[in-house]
Amino acid sequence: MSSDLVIVYHRQPYEEVEKDGEIILRENKSPNGIVPTLKSFFGTAEHAAWIAWKLADDPANPDFERVVEISDAHGDYTVSRLPLTQEQVSSFYHVSSKEAFWPILHSFKEKFNYDPVDWPTFREVNWAFAEAAAREAAQGARVWIHDYNLWLVPGYLRQLRSDVTISFFHHTPFPAADMFNVLPWRREIVKSLLDCDIVGFHIPRYASNFVSVVRSLFDVEVKKREMVADELISDGTALSERSAPTLLSFEDREIIVSSASVGVAVDFIEERAADPAVRADAEKIRESLGDCRLILSVGRTDYTKGGVDQMESFERVLTDTPDLRGKVKLMHVSVSANRNMSAYALTQTGIEETAGRINGRFGTLEWQPIALISRAIPFDDLIKYYLAADVAWITPLVDGMNLVCKEYLAARTDGDGVLVLSEFAGAAVELNSAVITNPFSHRSMDQAILQALEMPEDERRDRMKALRRVVRKYSVQAWGDTQQAQFAAAIARKIEAG
Ligand code: UDP
Repeated sequence: MSSDLVIVYHRQPYEEVEKDGEIILRENKSPNGIVPTLKSFFGTAEHAAWIAWKLADDPANPDFERVVEISDAHGDYTVSRLPLTQEQVSSFYHVSSKEAFWPILHSFKEKFNYDPVDWPTFREVNWAFAEAAAREAAQGARVWIHDYNLWLVPGYLRQLRSDVTISFFHHTPFPAADMFNVLPWRREIVKSLLDCDIVGFHIPRYASNFVSVVRSLFDVEVKKREMVADELISDGTALSERSAPTLLSFEDREIIVSSASVGVAVDFIEERAADPAVRADAEKIRESLGDCRLILSVGRTDYTKGGVDQMESFERVLTDTPDLRGKVKLMHVSVSANRNMSAYALTQTGIEETAGRINGRFGTLEWQPIALISRAIPFDDLIKYYLAADVAWITPLVDGMNLVCKEYLAARTDGDGVLVLSEFAGAAVELNSAVITNPFSHRSMDQAILQALEMPEDERRDRMKALRRVVRKYSVQAWGDTQQAQFAAAIARKIEAG
């Protein structure tokens, strides 16, 4: 009971790598993941703790190192590691979270897989996280819990510790009641979330969907919902979906429901993009393409990302606009999940087959329309492609936020490049100077990519300027500041209420 800040996130805050036969802990390589951002919060605490799981053959093994003390650039902190067996990880993460919750959160009812869910194991794992958080938290500590696989932690933690301030952030979309209530465990999940002081989402639409779900299940009072009139972005358009937090009153508690979109580390990306070696490599990529323009698409292999739909749009455009053949190339990065899950394997096969068909149909010895890449590209290399690409084509069917599009914009310190973005990515709420497209409409998809390819330089630069301003305004640091301010507000309300 010694940490005034406890972060509960299922992954450990570092990578474990083997060196000379020994496992060493090293900083995460990707600077854009959420882990470095959360760690930067440690600066706001006297002592911080992090709760995560770690695979254990035998959880009772006395040699399992449950608590690791870390000293790094972020200060001194404790990592409490919960030993989970392969079966527990598979049940709690791969089955309950990915096969049941993920499809519903992303509005894919048809992918919802109820039968394999082992609810007692989900509860048991969440209970273990809550117990560890309760053990680490100092009196009145801030406890910050992340994502849907830990939905039951707030409720359990509240049973153990009534004194702590609990904030829960969803890194995914959140659907309206007619979709969310498909989950048979909906009441238990929402009841747990109502034990938080703050429930956070990326965008106001997800927050208001959550409020609609809560109202469909419990008798809550909705105290305030105000639009912030003076929130203007880039081109002077009001950001209509940005709203002030809603206050819910339930039993004897008040819950702040808020939205703040996660952004990217703009300064870091700009610095990397300005590196002469990075720029020289980007130039080489451009030279290797000759007069062929590069369209870049980057994402994970997931049915929510719309990879096949996008390639089919590319196929229609090549069919209808023969002049583009040989003059444009789609680099489609779809990082395969490698999780042995049938839904992901099917998506991977769909992507490979579609790319193969299009390359077979249009390719020549000199030109392949699609370069499909299934492995993860290290972030430093990704920046080179961001710099070399004429167009970033980011068209998920649904996506909580989407950081790739923000990284692309942050990297374009040259002020050129076009972003084509799905209106169903959370990021589209802010990035309304992008070419916004509806991935469910063939016409909209085809027109958007053609518009991007034909866009005059003046317009490209105007839009890019506006977009880069937004990405800087809503950077990951801005998100962190908002979260801190919300903790402070929740604590102040509690003190006021006595
Ligand atoms: N990413 C990467 N290499 C790749 C593909 C993606 O490093 O080959 C990173 C990318 O830079 C971004 C993250 O993976 O930071 C993907 O985040 P996003 O929010 O776009 O999608 P998610 O995978 O979280 O749904």
